[in-house]
Amino acid sequence: MSYCLRERGIGHVVLEAGRVGREWRERRWDSFCLVTPNWQCRLPGFPYAGADPDGFMVRDEVLRYLEDYVSHFRPPLAEGVTVTGLRRSATGVFELASDAGDFTAEQVVVATGPYHAPAVPRLAERLPPHVAQLHSSQYRNPGQPAEGAVLVVGTGQSGCQIAEDLHLAGRRVHLAVGGAPRVARFYRGRDCVAWLDEMGHYAKEVGEFADGEAVRMRVNHYVTGRDGGRDIDLRAFARDGMRLYGRLSEVDGTRLEFAADLRANLDHADSVAEGIKDSIDAHIDAHGIDAPEEARYVPVWEPDEEPGTLDLREAGISTVIWSTGFVRDHGWIGAPVFDGRGHPVHRRGVTDCPGLYFLGLPWQHTWGSGRFEGVGRDAEFLANHIDASRRFADVCGTLTGTPLHLSPAVPVG
Ligand SMILES: Cc1cc2nc3c(=O)[nH]c(=O)nc-3n(C[C@H](O)[C@H](O)[C@H](O)COP(=O)(O)OP(=O)(O)OC[C@H]3O[C@@H](n4cnc5c(N)ncnc54)[C@H](O)[C@@H]3O)c2cc1C
Repeated sequence: MSYCLRERGIGHVVLEAGRVGREWRERRWDSFCLVTPNWQCRLPGFPYAGADPDGFMVRDEVLRYLEDYVSHFRPPLAEGVTVTGLRRSATGVFELASDAGDFTAEQVVVATGPYHAPAVPRLAERLPPHVAQLHSSQYRNPGQPAEGAVLVVGTGQSGCQIAEDLHLAGRRVHLAVGGAPRVARFYRGRDCVAWLDEMGHYAKEVGEFADGEAVRMRVNHYVTGRDGGRDIDLRAFARDGMRLYGRLSEVDGTRLEFAADLRANLDHADSVAEGIKDSIDAHIDAHGIDAPEEARYVPVWEPDEEPGTLDLREAGISTVIWSTGFVRDHGWIGAPVFDGRGHPVHRRGVTDCPGLYFLGLPWQHTWGSGRFEGVGRDAEFLANHIDASRRFADVCGTLTGTPLHLSPAVPVG
């Protein structure tokens, strides 16, 4: 956002509670690597320029990429400043409270990401005290959990990668499998992300879907960039000794209960992955692309039965890792722009509160929005909007803030 504002000569300041790249520095495990290939890192004016465009940056490389971006254009950045309150005054100016004092601004872009606080189901409070509990954002490496087996709850990108991290290190892992879909890493000679990009999936606008709001809540497909990239196949983990269960449903002392949906969840993940391959096949056929044939996935393991219970003590489980996502906390924003879940209501980041914008939300505008791939396009859009509204305000003299629905195409000045 700052880069795009700078390009348009719009005065601004970036307030950051921690240091640049805080989420990557403080909330990702040691072996973390991107799921998206490096060539998709397309921050404005600073596309990935390293030697491995088809590779996947590890955590510290992502951090360096962000720090290098800052060195590259030197944004007006104030680190260590937490904004604690935001309201729009009667005159249309935004008043911000922070731990470094108060500020005013004509326009505000909230770019605080979607991952604010760990989402841990409240049944966690009923786990016996001898079992340690971590959220995925607190997990660092396989040596961190105390001796014994580990239960990972959740199979989104974090849960799958953490379970794999522990499994590869020889830790005994139990995994509660949810309904997240998966995608193959490679198919017919290319990374599936490259095929999906070529097919326009990352640029498809949320408004093109009949159920746009439901699309915004979609869980990402699990796959990994580790060691050059590969599938995450939970069935292969099970074949190699990991214990799989359905969704965790109840805690009763040391006894845990699981829904009878393990088989269905594994089948669903595979059918999504195979469906993506179907669409890649169709794309290859439609465009006469010369791509090698590839045999389809054959399940390498099936559950004999639905494992309904697990006794933590009998299984020797020392630690539970909640890989159950995050909740958003926009409680510090005093503006009537939220829906029933506390998510901002917006059109491509533009809210109904003139001058208040959001950036970096999942599916803000496209699948690429909440990622390195597409956030730059949304920033460009908002910068154009802010620029146009600012010039419109100059022309109108008495107007402050952003007239609603103002398009950058509106003739100004
Ligand atoms: C497990 C995981 C894997 C991911 N993998 C990928 C991937 O492979 N590829 C990809 O492109 N993306 C990936 N992402 C998404 C990516 O990490 C970012 O979350 C996303 O791009 C949004 O970035 P952001 O800068 O908008 O927000 P964030 O990176 O969340 O940064 C928000 C910043 O706002 C600051 N902040 C928050 N509140 C305040 C406040 N009140 N005052 C001042 N500062 C505040 C925070 O300190 C933080 O630095 C992944 C995310 C997760 C959780």
